[in-house]
Amino acid sequence: MSATSLMTIPGHVDPVTVPRDAITARDDGRVDLIGLPRAAIAALFAEAGLDAKAAKLRSRQVYHWLYHRGVTEFEAMTDIAKPMRPWLTERFVIGRPEVVEAQVSTDGTRKWLLRTADAHDFEMVFIPDADRGTLCVSSQVGCTLNCRFCHTGTMRLVRNLTPGEIVGQVMLARDALGEWPKGRMDVAEEESESDYTSDGRLLTNIVMMGMGEPLYNFEHVRDALKLVMDGDGLALSKRRITLSTSGVVPMMARAGEEIGVNLAVSLHATNKDVRDEIVPINRKYGIEELLQACADYPGASNARRITFEYVMLDGKNDSDADARELVRLIKQYRLPAKVNLIPFNPWPGAPYECSSPERIKAFAQIVFDGGISAPVRTPRGRDIDAACGQLKTAAEKKSRAELDRLAEEKQAALD
Ligand code: SAH
Ligand code: SF4
Repeated sequence: MSATSLMTIPGHVDPVTVPRDAITARDDGRVDLIGLPRAAIAALFAEAGLDAKAAKLRSRQVYHWLYHRGVTEFEAMTDIAKPMRPWLTERFVIGRPEVVEAQVSTDGTRKWLLRTADAHDFEMVFIPDADRGTLCVSSQVGCTLNCRFCHTGTMRLVRNLTPGEIVGQVMLARDALGEWPKGRMDVAEEESESDYTSDGRLLTNIVMMGMGEPLYNFEHVRDALKLVMDGDGLALSKRRITLSTSGVVPMMARAGEEIGVNLAVSLHATNKDVRDEIVPINRKYGIEELLQACADYPGASNARRITFEYVMLDGKNDSDADARELVRLIKQYRLPAKVNLIPFNPWPGAPYECSSPERIKAFAQIVFDGGISAPVRTPRGRDIDAACGQLKTAAEKKSRAELDRLAEEKQAALD
């Protein structure tokens, strides 16, 4: 690295601005690069003194090491000149969410309690199956919506997660599973995608079904998923990513156009009264509007069907008539759809109970006889509170423990 390449040349600074709200401020003044696209990394390098050409070249190399190789230290970036590496280390960091606790269920499901740099807790779950491994990623700490059967919904929204905190979950899972590509240590021009195959990987799918409503944090979710889908980034196909929404109708078309992943919709009811009660966003965007937005969802086809999630609540939404109405609605809007029947996961103080296995079976049969695939989801990781809609317990427990610790420290200081 020559000294001149560290100097700013007026007029050559990359014009891309780095959105500050996408970055969590750090006490040491360094900037965490995780979550930033290539152009923003180049802009930061230029701001820090590299000329435009060097900033572009270095950002390309660093981007590859960050997102494709998953390295966590600039020293490991072997094609970057030695003197440049401490220069990077002084100014930037390669962050990961802090792991507060990692648990493994008897069924192999893993759950991580994670913490942001400004001390907010959120959760991530990995569900291994015979033919796939699904990572359930959070988009917010808490949720502003109050679906009555959802434990996360009883928690107030603390804040949106940044792109770095969202893509950071996937990167952390790859760290934990040891699944970064192990190609040659140098980035050669002729290297091809096939140097890093995903064959045999445990983590094959991502669902935006952790804490929060992803379409209420649209930009950050989009920017994070772009890094996940980029061939030179984490390189996961958009066909293996599913975004689940409770029905934020005005954002659905943009989600299809700007992200393009599979869509799952938390329908859970077939008439206004019941959906108003259990998914209150329905009072704003009703079932008809929601189903029309599904019919218009860009990219939906028989090969890429929309998933309707339907939580089975005893005596609330689980009658034969509900099942028939569900089929009728899907047909009326000509939706390429499948239905995921989710047995309700109870939590302390929940106002509902799960439908009986016989009821669920009968409901599934009616939907299936209507020509729509309707698998019943097996609850996973129940023993570690990792199942759908339970992502709150550990965070709360932790913050209680945290409070107790702080109280003890305070007391000790007074003694
Ligand atoms: N906010 C988004 C994504 C997160 S929730 C959404 O609502 O779609 C992921 C799925 O779990 C949703 O279908 C949600 O309705 C469901 N869910 C929430 N609480 C549940 C519970 N206690 N039992 C079963 N499923 C639940
Ligand atoms: Fe929020 Fe989804 Fe839970 Fe509803 S089901 S409260 S939208 S996380």
